[in-house]
Amino acid sequence: MPPSSSSSSSSSSFDFDLFVIGGGSGGVRAARMAGQRGARVALAECAALGGTCVNVGCIPKKLYSYAAGYAEAFEEAPGYGWTLPEAPRFDWGVLKANRAKEIARLNRVYQGLLDGAGVTLLQGWAQLVDGHTVEVDGRRHTAEHILVATGGMPVLPELPGAGLGVVSDAVFDLPAFPQRLVVVGAGYIACEFASIFRGLGAQVTQLVRRAHLLDAFDEDVREFLAREMGKAGIDLRMNTQAETITRDETTGRLSVSLARGQVLEADTVLFATGRRPNTEGMGLEAAGVKLDARGAVVVDGEYRSSVPSVFAVGDVCTRLQLTPVALAEAMVVVDGLFGDGRRRMDYDFVPTAVFTHPNVGTCGYTEAAARAKFGEVRIFATDFKPLRHTLSGREERTFMKLVVDAKSDRVVGLHMVGSEAGEIVQGFAVAMRAGATKAQFDTTIGIHPTAAEEFVTMREPTVG
Ligand code: FAD
Ligand code: NDP
Repeated sequence: MPPSSSSSSSSSSFDFDLFVIGGGSGGVRAARMAGQRGARVALAECAALGGTCVNVGCIPKKLYSYAAGYAEAFEEAPGYGWTLPEAPRFDWGVLKANRAKEIARLNRVYQGLLDGAGVTLLQGWAQLVDGHTVEVDGRRHTAEHILVATGGMPVLPELPGAGLGVVSDAVFDLPAFPQRLVVVGAGYIACEFASIFRGLGAQVTQLVRRAHLLDAFDEDVREFLAREMGKAGIDLRMNTQAETITRDETTGRLSVSLARGQVLEADTVLFATGRRPNTEGMGLEAAGVKLDARGAVVVDGEYRSSVPSVFAVGDVCTRLQLTPVALAEAMVVVDGLFGDGRRRMDYDFVPTAVFTHPNVGTCGYTEAAARAKFGEVRIFATDFKPLRHTLSGREERTFMKLVVDAKSDRVVGLHMVGSEAGEIVQGFAVAMRAGATKAQFDTTIGIHPTAAEEFVTMREPTVG
């Protein structure tokens, strides 16, 4: 489809119809879709194509999570009659090399997608000169519209010796496997990597500054997950902060000092203490693009910034830092510029998973948020030993919870901690977005024997 008239009428005076800064999830999707609709598109990327998700995020993280899962399978196998020929050994070097090979393949796939859509790829650091001009390594390019999709980067807390730690970008390629790992933080990344490295055989201590993990998640989910992570051997220290980090120059070992004189020895300290938008040194504010207090680009419902020709999507806006969200936002921008402009993003009932062992999967409101929004709610919850673990010998349990708006009977929150929770919750998210009621859950026939069937067989409210 050719660019819409609003766009094509003046496009000839510019080098491009759309200039995308950043070749990550949001940027590549926007460039590719705009290119496929006939727009003249350029994309600047200063590192590897695919951005955070492909190179140092979702994909390599999930691969490492699979690697950690084998440890569980080996542990469970004897209960099912298997005798392993010898104690399994894990080779960090092999995992790193195989991951790197797969990521390089994905980088090429992204390159192919852009080539196929006729997108001009510019390798380099891009800066905004004005609302229609981008400079990439000293060369200026003009465009009718500019999309900032530069993502975010991890932040280190301000404490003495923080620079001796690593952030998630570096954790995939640690030169040596950390036998003793200290993880600082309680969010997605901290919990996921604590689980991954524990599964791979490290001794893991996780420092959590509050009394709970995963602040935005349902309280029961947080508590249940903490218990399961503890059972898996992660030393979770709640209400604990690192104060200083020092390194023994002879051994290279790190010492993490905590309050009250406690010291933890570690090979690696991973700071998973949040991310900030990538907006520094890009000339955004000088070009008139408004940033908020955290440095995120301020956008309206169509992702337009304070400069009408400049848009922004994904982590650089920090609404919900998830790949599918960045993709969906990019589609709204492309539709607005080169389509019929009717597409909108709806942030309600966006499902998400935390790939801990076991997984957390969640969609919709926590119990507390639902009470605040809807008033009276009914809660259905169950906690059970999954069939798999009757013979596996593992003590892992599964937790499931439904939050129902008492007035409308609509299921407004669905939460799970258990194996494959991400896979399970994705399907239920469709029903929830369609407004499914508890009565409709009740008339849905389960698939037996699965854990997922519990979501349609919980009859008696535990609360309400
Ligand atoms: P990015 O993917 O970060 O892309 C931004 C790109 O812009 C980068 O390639 C960067 O090099 C480039 N860039 C920046 N500045 C410039 C410049 N001035 N010039 C040129 N190029 C520039 N989300 C999920 O949904 N599921 C997960 O399982 C998941 N796991 C994650 C695990 C980790 C460890 C991390 C860190 C994140 C994870 N996320 C996950 C979040 C997800 O990766 C991000 O939400 C998503 O990548 C955001 O996409 P984006 O397009 O906004 O930015
Ligand atoms: P989060 O915002 O999820 O968590 C940051 C954590 O760091 C919080 O627990 C916070 O604690 C803690 N923290 C912040 N500062 C300090 C400090 N000075 N000392 C100790 N702890 C501190 O960020 P992440 O970095 O984990 O992940 C960024 C985003 O990336 C996520 O929010 C998510 O959107 C996305 N992501 C998604 C994944 C997925 O979909 N599976 C996986 C990984 C990332 P407190 O709660 O007390 O503020």
